[in-house]
Amino acid sequence: GAKEASSSERKGSDRGPPGHSMLAPFTSGTQQSDYHPLVITRSEGVYIFDNEGKKYLDALAGLWSTALGGNEKRLVDAATKQLSVLPFYHSFWNRTTEPSLKLAEELVDLFKPVKMAKVFYTNSGSEANDTQVKIIWYYNNHRGKPKKKKFIAREKAYHGSTLVTASLSGLSNLQNGFDLPDAFPYVLRAECPHYWRNHLPGESEEEYATRLADNLEKLILKEDPETIAAFFAEPVMGAGGVMPPPATYFEKVQAVLKKYDILFVADEVVTAFGRLGTMFGCEKYDIKPDLVSLAKAITSAYAPLGALLVSQKIWEEISAHSDKLGQFGHGFTYSGHPVSCAIALEAIQIYKEKKIDEYVAKVGPIWQEGMRAYEKSPIVAEIRGLGLIMAVEFGDKDPKKPFPASWGTGSFFGAECAKQGLLVRISGDIIMMSPTLVITEDEIKDFIRMFGEALKITENHIRELQASQ
Ligand code: PLP
Repeated sequence: GAKEASSSERKGSDRGPPGHSMLAPFTSGTQQSDYHPLVITRSEGVYIFDNEGKKYLDALAGLWSTALGGNEKRLVDAATKQLSVLPFYHSFWNRTTEPSLKLAEELVDLFKPVKMAKVFYTNSGSEANDTQVKIIWYYNNHRGKPKKKKFIAREKAYHGSTLVTASLSGLSNLQNGFDLPDAFPYVLRAECPHYWRNHLPGESEEEYATRLADNLEKLILKEDPETIAAFFAEPVMGAGGVMPPPATYFEKVQAVLKKYDILFVADEVVTAFGRLGTMFGCEKYDIKPDLVSLAKAITSAYAPLGALLVSQKIWEEISAHSDKLGQFGHGFTYSGHPVSCAIALEAIQIYKEKKIDEYVAKVGPIWQEGMRAYEKSPIVAEIRGLGLIMAVEFGDKDPKKPFPASWGTGSFFGAECAKQGLLVRISGDIIMMSPTLVITEDEIKDFIRMFGEALKITENHIRELQASQ
């Protein structure tokens, strides 16, 4: 798997406590044994501060999540108000709380592409996608299609890190050492729709999309459509390297799925609530999903919450047969946690008041165009993205000629960015960014400037490396 910005870059510094007792997510064993993490102590708008007081523009908004920035008082007030009245009650067995009921109404109303009927709450995006798998099996078992069990997910997809969702994900670093994806043998792999990397000479985006849809159909026919339950897709692939779909891709894919009675699960964990300049990614690409997964920006990450939207079509079928199976035997202690739901209600209220989708549609292009000036850099292979999500990939302009991993271009650049005061996500030679949705035009200018400074230093470094070869 791709190497993330490592805490070992800080090896030897005395920054932060050793923290040896924490088994850190997505951190290698060798890093764990000499663990000097960057410790973040405070946030303010688009900025975060470390325990030495250094200020960074948080280019990833937490983990693509802190949509309203670091210190939105209204979210803090919504949380404290709920905490002081009712910090917790569950939603099992026909008991629940007001915020969880209200939020479900709000989400069903907010999602326009298809008629949604029900909302199921989880604590995370992984649990939302895990629950999708169970609901889809439950649905197919009820409607007399018990053979329809397999899922199609794409290379480089990220759908979570539980047993099932790490198997759905198309990234080997989630699977190595865990007997995955073999331990969940219900996943078929479709191609990653990355035009720059994968198109044939002379092939247009539309032709490339047609080829992908044809290959998807071949995969379905080879496996037997009667065994395939659903297709999982992020509207714009995120953690795998920010890959927006080629033109006409989702239109063509949806036509194939429809033909074979295969459901569409839109994993909107990153793309929902304005990130692409539309309230949902499904609106951007005219996706008509059967089920939707949400998390992250649903609470602007102020508290954990995931949710699934279940369409009218799925719900009618399930409810028509529910007398046979009795209860829907699935749920978590914290499904619909009232504090998380109260925060989500306020976050959505703010998104609506600020018209966050329109705001991103306005400032997103300023950021995208400003950053694209760096496409001319001799060390930049591709810049891709839309709205407030972007990746810059280092390498030769020819996708078949990446830079040698030993150059560590991404890590070098990331460290230079941090010196400038811009904290980016690094995955090998891919830099991923998704700042808070409330970033101002001045902050965007500063973002682009810091990125450019770090890029200049990195260009010189690579030139020296090339000269010494
Ligand atoms: N789906 C997508 C598209 C994601 O990007 C993520 C997390 O980054 C997840 C699912 C998993 O969410 P969580 O980390 O909350 O389990």
